[in-house]
Amino acid sequence: MHALVLEKETEPTRIVHALGLHARSVEVMDQRGLLERFLALGQQYPVGGFFAGITKPSPDRLDTAHPYVLGIPQTTTERLLTEHATELGVEIRRGCELVGLSQDDHGVTVELADGTRLRSRYLVGCDGGRSTVRKLLGVGFPGEPTRVETLLGEMEVAVPPEALATVVAEVRKTQLRFGAVPFGEGVYRIVVPAEGVAEDRSVPPTLDELKQRLRVFARTDFGAHSPRWLSRFGDATRLAECYRVGRVLLAGDAAHIHPPTGQLPHRTAPGGRRRAGQHPRADAAAVPEPGPRSVRRLVSELMDFEDVNRYLIEKITAIGVRYDFGEGHELLGRRMRDVGLKRGRLYELMHGGRGLLLDQTGRLSVAGWADRVDHVVDVSEELDVPAALLRPDGHVAWVGEDQQDLLSQLPRWFGAAVS
Ligand SMILES: Cc1cc2nc3c(=O)[nH]c(=O)nc-3n(C[C@H](O)[C@H](O)[C@H](O)COP(=O)(O)OP(=O)(O)OC[C@H]3O[C@@H](n4cnc5c(N)ncnc54)[C@H](O)[C@@H]3O)c2cc1C
Repeated sequence: MHALVLEKETEPTRIVHALGLHARSVEVMDQRGLLERFLALGQQYPVGGFFAGITKPSPDRLDTAHPYVLGIPQTTTERLLTEHATELGVEIRRGCELVGLSQDDHGVTVELADGTRLRSRYLVGCDGGRSTVRKLLGVGFPGEPTRVETLLGEMEVAVPPEALATVVAEVRKTQLRFGAVPFGEGVYRIVVPAEGVAEDRSVPPTLDELKQRLRVFARTDFGAHSPRWLSRFGDATRLAECYRVGRVLLAGDAAHIHPPTGQLPHRTAPGGRRRAGQHPRADAAAVPEPGPRSVRRLVSELMDFEDVNRYLIEKITAIGVRYDFGEGHELLGRRMRDVGLKRGRLYELMHGGRGLLLDQTGRLSVAGWADRVDHVVDVSEELDVPAALLRPDGHVAWVGEDQQDLLSQLPRWFGAAVS
């Protein structure tokens, strides 16, 4: 199968939004064979402190082989994924903006801004929160609109690091959407609350606008100058009404958005460089108003209970996600963590992005689906189910030992058998 990526921008962006990957994202990279590349370019931080910026120790016994946050800039992530896609033979066409689409029983036709028409079997709209694909499908995007906006940018400052750090620490006692994190060579990533909400958030703020807001909160603009880039983001939370219409699917921010910040826990990296981590959601309590502040205090107290701490960290790292695949074994619908097998480890066997039957009985068969599903007969001391059928994303689609039962599930996930 040939895949083609259409990207409207002619060059990769310089804007660094995400600074970190949580456990589930790291697991997915591992499942696709990219772990070493990401670990080589990222820094590992403890997961404690990533829920609403509440500083707590990392909970024990997290159900993952990757109980850390991997600090890595989104621009690096995008570069590594681009390299991987290219190695797999995926074609990436830049400067191609999708403006129209139509579909029938056999495929999808898309129209580009220059009038070009392209035909494919499927289309996946990964075109961000303002997704054109989602709008063209007429899929609603209900949720909470943006109430507050934050300005963000990378720039140089004219004050010594110690003086800047003192001011930032003081302002952050009451305003967690304020921060300045050194990125080396005198460059800082600065965030500060905007005055209102921009009509068009794709229009970046000016340096003057950002400096004016710094003065409001810090009574100084740190002599900020020479911005590398400037951006703004809101705190909307929205979920697409559905992720699929016929042969067109929605993924990523096109399907769901939520506020990225709420905390910028400052951590000192080896070599004295300080980095910030951010996490999705959980920022509702990270605002200065009295109501949310008392909720935050209460949540903080509750997090002293190890089980509560673990529960919340499992949510924020997404390792606790359980899809509704119906009644059944507790593993059903959950992603399976990486487990050691007699001959290697589970995630090493998933690099091809195919389905996988992990069969500890040696009596099962995927005949008819072998072109889509790998059959691994092996045993694991960490797994107490006879066999599990995994989707390519590692979520457990079936658990059991009965071949007829398995045959009833394979078509649901992998289509009809071929002879
Ligand atoms: C300040 C901030 C901090 C964040 N921090 C983190 C973090 O630490 N960890 C984390 O996991 N996430 C974080 N996020 C969220 C993360 O950045 C997004 O979830 C992620 O970028 C979504 O990726 P995406 O590919 O779905 O959409 P996008 O990154 O928005 O990419 C969409 C792409 O589609 C292209 N496009 C749009 N329309 C068209 C069209 N019509 N035709 C062709 N191409 C089109 C765009 O040019 C763009 O390249 C943060 C977000 C922000 C704003």
